[in-house]
Amino acid sequence: MEQFEGLTPAQTVERVSTQLGCPPTSAQVAEFLDEQDPLRPLRGEFFLPRVSDLPTSDLSVADGCADCIYLVGNSLGLQPRLTQQYLKEELDKWAKTGVHGHTVGPRPWAWAEDDLEQMMADLVGAKREEVALMNALTVNLHLLLLSFYKPTTSRHKILLEAKAFPSDHYAVESQIRLRGLDPEESMLLLPPRPGEETLRTEDILDVIEKEGPSIAVVMFSGVQYYTGQLFNMAAITEAGHRKGCYVGFDCAHAAGNALLQLHDWDVDFACWCSYKYMNSGAGGLAAAFVHEKHKDTVRPALTGWWGHDLKTRFQMNNEMELQPGVSGFRLSNQPILLVCPLQASLEVFHKAGMAALRRKSVLLTGYLEYLILHYYSPDPSQPQRPYVHIITPSDPEQRGCQLSLCFSLPIRRVFQELERRGVACDMREPSVLRVAPVPLYNSFSDVHRFIETLGAALGVSGGPL
Ligand SMILES: *Cc1c(COP(=O)(O)O)cnc(C)c1O
Repeated sequence: MEQFEGLTPAQTVERVSTQLGCPPTSAQVAEFLDEQDPLRPLRGEFFLPRVSDLPTSDLSVADGCADCIYLVGNSLGLQPRLTQQYLKEELDKWAKTGVHGHTVGPRPWAWAEDDLEQMMADLVGAKREEVALMNALTVNLHLLLLSFYKPTTSRHKILLEAKAFPSDHYAVESQIRLRGLDPEESMLLLPPRPGEETLRTEDILDVIEKEGPSIAVVMFSGVQYYTGQLFNMAAITEAGHRKGCYVGFDCAHAAGNALLQLHDWDVDFACWCSYKYMNSGAGGLAAAFVHEKHKDTVRPALTGWWGHDLKTRFQMNNEMELQPGVSGFRLSNQPILLVCPLQASLEVFHKAGMAALRRKSVLLTGYLEYLILHYYSPDPSQPQRPYVHIITPSDPEQRGCQLSLCFSLPIRRVFQELERRGVACDMREPSVLRVAPVPLYNSFSDVHRFIETLGAALGVSGGPL
C-alpha cells in the first residue's frame, strides 16, 4: 500500500479508479485494494459465518457469496480458528491429569494468563505490570471505582457522558449511592450541544476546567459505543489531572480498534472487555489497567487470594502479601476456558501489530464512508430519495472502524432486508445502523458487497431508489 501513502482514503479510492480505468464505485477497486492489503491473510485465521448458517438469512435473495457480510465485530468478534484447539488441549489435560493441570503443560492453569498479559499490554500501550486479565468488564469497572472514587464533601462528582453505555451509567450511579451520595448531585452528565450528536473535545475540557474542583473522577469511554466517536484521551487526562481529578476510561470499543497509549497518556485506570474487537467469545475474560505510578498507593478495596504474591500464594498463611498495582486487584483463580480463546485472538493481533491494523482500518472505514457519501448524500433535486447522515466524526483521528449511519427513513424494514441478504450489522431504532468493518478479518470487498446489498435492501423496502 506504500504507493498510497500520504493520500486520504477518498484520494486513494480515486487514484485506484484512475489506475484501473473504472469508476470509483466499481467492485474492481475493492478487489484491487484487497490484493494490495498485506493483512489480507489474517481473515483465514477466523471462522467467518456462512450465509446459509445465519438464522436470519434467505438464500433466495442473498448475493450467492458463501461468506456472510460480517460488520458487527464491534459487538461480538469472530472466533479465531485456534480457539477450539486450545480449548481441546485444556479439556484433554483436565481429563488426563486432573488437578495436575494447574502446573503442567503449555498453559499451566495457575498462571495461565501470564503469557497473555504482555500481548494485551502491547495492544493498549501499557506496561505488562499495568494490565491484569480478570473478571468481566463491569466487574472491573466497579473494582477500579472502589479504589479511585474517594469522594469528599467538596470533591464528590463523577463526570461521564450523558449517553454512556448503560452498564457504565449504572455502575457509576450505584457507586455514588454506595457512598451514601445522591446521583442527582454527584453524577455529572455531559450531553452533546443541542442539535449535535457527538461531544466536542473543547466542551469536555471546558466542563473539567469549570467543575474540576468538585470532580473526583472523570470517566469516559475511549470510543463511544453508539456514535463511534474516539475521544481525545490524552487531552481529557491532562485536563483532569490539572484539576486534581483521577481520569479513567472504559475502552470496550477502543481496545483492539484504536491506537491507545494508556501509559504515556498518563491515564489513571482503564478497563475493557475482550469479546468485541478482541474476539474472545461472549462473556470473555476482561482486562483492567492501573498506571504504574499508583502501584504502591492505590490499593484494591476488595482482595482475594489471587492478589497475593504468586511466590507465597499457596502457603495459605492468611497473611496477605499484596501484589503491587493492578495485579493486587485480582480476586479469583483464572477461568482457563476463557483464557484459551483470548490467547488465540491475541496471537493474531500480535502477528499483525496494532499499527498496521490501524493503517488498514483508516482506509477500510474511509472506503465505506466514501461509498456512503457517494450514494446516500442528500440530493435536493430528489427529496424523496432516502439519504444517510453519518453520525460518526469524519476525521479519522476521532473515530475507530465503526460508522454509525443515520437514515432519513425508519430502518427496521431495511435492516430485515439486509439480514435476509446475509449482512450482520447492528440496528438501533428508529434509524441508526452501526457498521464496523474490522481490519483483522473484513475486506474491502465486504464493504463493497455491503453497499450493493444496502441498495437492494432499500429498493425493496419502499425507499424509492
Ligand atoms: C460492551 C460494553 C459493556 C458490557 O459490559 P459487560 O460487563 O462486559 O457485560 C460495558 N460498557 C461498555 C462501554 C461497553 O461497550
